[in-house]
Amino acid sequence: MIITNKFNIPEVFVNVMKRPQYSKGRADLSATEMLNSPRIVQLRKKHFDEIEVDVSDNYWSILGTAVHGILEHGKADNHINEERLFTKIEGWIISGAIDLQIVNEDGSITIQDYKNTGVWSVMNEKIDWEYQLNIYAWLVERVKNIPVKRLEIVALLRDWSRRDAESKAGYPQAPIIVLPINLWPYDQRESFVIDCIKSHSNAQMDAEMGESLPECTPDQMWEKPTTYAVMKEGNKRATSVHETQAEAQEALKTVKGVANIVIRPGERTRCENYCNVNKFCNQYQKYLEEKNDSL
Ligand code: SF4
Repeated sequence: MIITNKFNIPEVFVNVMKRPQYSKGRADLSATEMLNSPRIVQLRKKHFDEIEVDVSDNYWSILGTAVHGILEHGKADNHINEERLFTKIEGWIISGAIDLQIVNEDGSITIQDYKNTGVWSVMNEKIDWEYQLNIYAWLVERVKNIPVKRLEIVALLRDWSRRDAESKAGYPQAPIIVLPINLWPYDQRESFVIDCIKSHSNAQMDAEMGESLPECTPDQMWEKPTTYAVMKEGNKRATSVHETQAEAQEALKTVKGVANIVIRPGERTRCENYCNVNKFCNQYQKYLEEKNDSL
């Protein structure tokens, strides 16, 4: 991996990046990798030495690691911090590092995962958290043979505002909140893990055979579709927004006064801004070509 420092950020941050603390150990796949797009995982493996990452892109990750480190000092007698568990299934070694396991009085375990995140994320459903914690629950029961009773996200809200907490309905009342996460039955967790492994295994086979990798889905690309806004002359806000031009045309007919349709082009936010293999990805390069052709 090539580390760049485009904004002349102090050396200590560069050194932190050069000395990563995270390791998935001897595993083929970690729980977080399992949830990632198989295309991204394979492209990262193939182009690891050519991938460029700027120090500035790592800010939130450094902060997250620092928070995890300091919270270990809050450990109680019935807490197990940062335990990495390993197991083998379908020929793959899977691992997961669990932020905190709380041993309950009846011997069962509550799993907590810390998330440095924004308020928006806790006010909107984030299914990936449910997937991740259920993989951890599967690991704990499979490896340690101890029942898991509860799953919780401990959200540390970096953009929390006291004023919004006082005035907005449903807004979190404190900058640290605990979100209960739906715990699936064991068989459902295991089927989910097997499905994920199959997707990664197929992608790995494609990579080894030199065949096209499976494409990222709209969700994996954080795709926002193109929309069509009906705008009344003089107004800054759209009168209505539609998924197709035809729907917008129909809506336009009902507007009194002068109005027109403004096309709001869609985007693939992750591909454009957050995927460090985008220059090696033919799916994204093709999308860019098509986008340029349509201009
Ligand atoms: S650039 Fe987009 S399509 Fe390509 S691997 Fe990254 S997220 Fe997937």
